[in-house]
Amino acid sequence: MPEIHRRKTVTVNVGSVRVGSDAPVVVQSMTNTDTTDVAGTIQQTAELVQAGSELVRVTVNNDDAAQAVPYIVEGLAKQGIHVPIIGDFHYNGHLLLKKYPSCARALAKYRINPGNCSIGRKDDENFRTMIECAVENQKPVRIGVNWGSLDQALLTRLMDENSKLPDPVPARDVMLEAMCRSALDSASAAERYGLRHDQIIISGKVSGVRDLLDVYTMLAARCDYPLHLGLTEAGMGMKGIVASTAGLAPLLLQGIGDTIRVSLTPRPGSSRTEEVLTAQQILQSLSIRSFAPQVTACPGCGRTTSTFFQELAQQIQDYLRTSMPVWRAQYPGVEELKLAVMGCVVNGPGESKHANIGISLPGTFEEPKAPVYVDGRLMTTLRGDTIVQDFKKILDDYVRTRYGAEKELETTVV
Ligand code: SF4
Repeated sequence: MPEIHRRKTVTVNVGSVRVGSDAPVVVQSMTNTDTTDVAGTIQQTAELVQAGSELVRVTVNNDDAAQAVPYIVEGLAKQGIHVPIIGDFHYNGHLLLKKYPSCARALAKYRINPGNCSIGRKDDENFRTMIECAVENQKPVRIGVNWGSLDQALLTRLMDENSKLPDPVPARDVMLEAMCRSALDSASAAERYGLRHDQIIISGKVSGVRDLLDVYTMLAARCDYPLHLGLTEAGMGMKGIVASTAGLAPLLLQGIGDTIRVSLTPRPGSSRTEEVLTAQQILQSLSIRSFAPQVTACPGCGRTTSTFFQELAQQIQDYLRTSMPVWRAQYPGVEELKLAVMGCVVNGPGESKHANIGISLPGTFEEPKAPVYVDGRLMTTLRGDTIVQDFKKILDDYVRTRYGAEKELETTVV
């Protein structure tokens, strides 16, 4: 696999998690509970962490939320969960961080939106107050610019300057430049106010994929702060997943991006963890990080009209998901495991040979048998009503012997 050359950045320590430089690209998420609901926020954070979120952001939008933060952090610690909690501030962060020092201390990082922390002021005193809190508590910050709340004074000034040029550039270019300037000028100001260079992460979020690519390419060329990537307001379901992947993948392949979040709108009642699993899948599909065994399954076609292989693929995927919390601790490296579940002999054996374990189910009119390949060799051929159970047993044995203490697979080659 060709190596991805990560962009050179400083390393920022967010609690116990390193972001930037040679640290793995970090997956983060954000709760959607009311932060004042301490029990609910603890529960959702625990679910996000269980799914693999390495940083979790919570809204800190009022006095009650700020007062709740230390209890959330404490409640998580009592469950043995020490994930860094990031406070998301808009409009009143300067007031809340000053008024509630225990909140300022409990948070591992502050997210500051320079577009809305000094509304109604001609100076940046509110921004300065937040940075001074960060300095006092030795916390890193993310300067998170969002085009939905871009510094309007800056944008207006740049638009005016542009309109006076003999050959004005398109308004989109001015907007992207304003986003970069807002982020980078704020980062410079933060350093003037005492924050260290390696305590700053930057983001410039937009909701259009092409805009995202351009703004992050510009940011990457103009600073060595770690970058937090994400398509803001990506949307719901397939649209959000596809748009986020389309936006993040080209940047990650260029080595741009040190931490990512996939901002999916959850369907009512669905799990918030979908955004974590999607972020992990993006990184794993790009061979940047491994989080869980991968199942390659063919799409099916007229050669296999039975749904048996689809059901098997689903059952194996579910089995892996439920087994992973235990396997991850017990079998280091199991996240690299590759499985193939194929619908007939056309591509079945070939794809199976590329996987650690592959099964090729019988297509229509094929003899009712399912050859299983292990590490490229035909291990056995399954038949009858117990194919699913037999295949799971082969999987369990492989995981135990390959990734457990024994580390040697006993195979029966037929
Ligand atoms: S492996 Fe067989 S069933 Fe699956 S898509 Fe290819 S030809 Fe169709």
